[in-house]
Amino acid sequence: MPTSNPPLIQPSEKVRRFLDRRFKLYLGGEFTATSSSFETVDPATGRPLAEVPDATAVDLDAAVTAARRAFERWRRSAPRSRVELLGELAAAMRSHFDEFVEIEVLDGGKTTEGARLDVDLAIETLRYYAGWADKVHGDVVPNSVPGMTAMRVREPIGVVAAIPPSNFPILELVYKVAPAIAVGCAVIGKPSPLTPLTALRFADLCAEVQVPAGLINVLTGSGSALGQDLVRHPGVDMITFTGQTETGRSILRDVADGVKKCTLELGGKNPIVVMADADIDAAVTSSAFTTMYNQGQVCVAGSRLLVHDSVVDEFTEKLVSQLSALRIGHGLDPDAAMGPLISQSHMERVLGYIGLATDDGAEVLLGGQRPSLADEALAGGYFVEPTVIGGVSPGARVAQEEIFGPVGCVVPWSSSEEIASIANDVEYGLAAGIFSGDVNAALRLAAEIDAGTVWVNTYAQFDVGVSFGGHKMSGLTGFGSELGSEALEQYQKSKTIWLNLE
Ligand code: NAD
Repeated sequence: MPTSNPPLIQPSEKVRRFLDRRFKLYLGGEFTATSSSFETVDPATGRPLAEVPDATAVDLDAAVTAARRAFERWRRSAPRSRVELLGELAAAMRSHFDEFVEIEVLDGGKTTEGARLDVDLAIETLRYYAGWADKVHGDVVPNSVPGMTAMRVREPIGVVAAIPPSNFPILELVYKVAPAIAVGCAVIGKPSPLTPLTALRFADLCAEVQVPAGLINVLTGSGSALGQDLVRHPGVDMITFTGQTETGRSILRDVADGVKKCTLELGGKNPIVVMADADIDAAVTSSAFTTMYNQGQVCVAGSRLLVHDSVVDEFTEKLVSQLSALRIGHGLDPDAAMGPLISQSHMERVLGYIGLATDDGAEVLLGGQRPSLADEALAGGYFVEPTVIGGVSPGARVAQEEIFGPVGCVVPWSSSEEIASIANDVEYGLAAGIFSGDVNAALRLAAEIDAGTVWVNTYAQFDVGVSFGGHKMSGLTGFGSELGSEALEQYQKSKTIWLNLE
């Protein structure tokens, strides 16, 4: 919904110049023009931001050929050179920190504070995997065959297709690029068509620090075809994907023919269980944060607030009070605590879910709509008010499906015997939170909850050294995990070498 009103906030001169560029693909160490392009918009205004290259199958072939060539050299590279390269990328990103933040705010509808956290963690990720690059090694395995030594070596898997989601564009790209490069792989990065700009800025840095030609490539494309062609390309050895469960399923079908490795980090519908003896203020603060952070467009958003009957009124009242104080606005406005959703169609989807909730007998206690369109600053953007829905039953669609918006659904419960099954009664299993005054009871419940991460008396803590992955339809740990030393293994294959010493 474009508006004729001028945006109240203008990008900096540096970012303005970046947006006005004729962008090119980055492949084989060169910037390559394309004949067609597509628009990316600022979701806070609905206005076009930049024209982005639309890669073709020919561009994809060229990128894969370049990546294969680069891989053959990089897999033999000295670990020390991998340490240095990742360190240089981290330093280059640090020196362009503000620019990355601003571009991410404009393209992804983030708040400045949110984008700062993302860029900071992306730099930390590069630094962390630089530290690992010369410490990865295989083993000599004890065996009972006389005179034989068995060695298990780890080799880089090859050319990796890195497909990040729209909600953490630069962060998720770096989550994939850094461990892959650290162990000796080459990468083709394909950002979401909704948020391609920080990946293109990252390509500049690769050129600036002289990443070997073809080792890291960035291809942008307008629809799902480029991602699908990338997944199916015979020259691609592995796919590392983060996005919707439905897309993950389609990728799994596509990799089956090539019997390729893939890691899948998918959607979530995460419970926060609030026990009768919980510190209600702490539970409310975490629940309010997870409802509004990145407008609820977070895989670990705790959108199922399972609150014990005896404290549900107090909890809900305090949650409504905290969320109603939030200011919505453009992310470049330092006072804005919440920005827009990523696209018009996604905004309509979220509003549709809120409508469904009342059909199911629940009550919208806060928000539930777009902010007043009379507000010039918000009229063109894809904003939805922070929303609290009370009295939700565990089986309602809003309690079962990933809404991916600023919507907290309060589900009251009463029986301790049933709370684990209520918490588990969704198809996802990404994360969960438990707030309780009794740590033993919380740990007993944590053992029962089928999720990749459980936070107790806190929520959404992350560290680059601590691995993260989902269960069930969130990507079952069998399809890999990100972060920590475990991520390195995803980009490696093992080989056993027997040596006769007799
Ligand atoms: P999406 O699935 O729509 O898109 C993700 C990426 O896949 C994009 O780059 C897209 O262009 C590409 N793509 C689309 N169709 C494809 C195909 N057939 N083959 C190959 N690539 C294809 O996801 P999104 O809406 O951008 O991201 C939000 C989703 O990501 C949410 O469900 C969220 O929960 C999930 N997510 C999960 C994690 C996690 O760690 N588990 C982290 C962040 C986001």
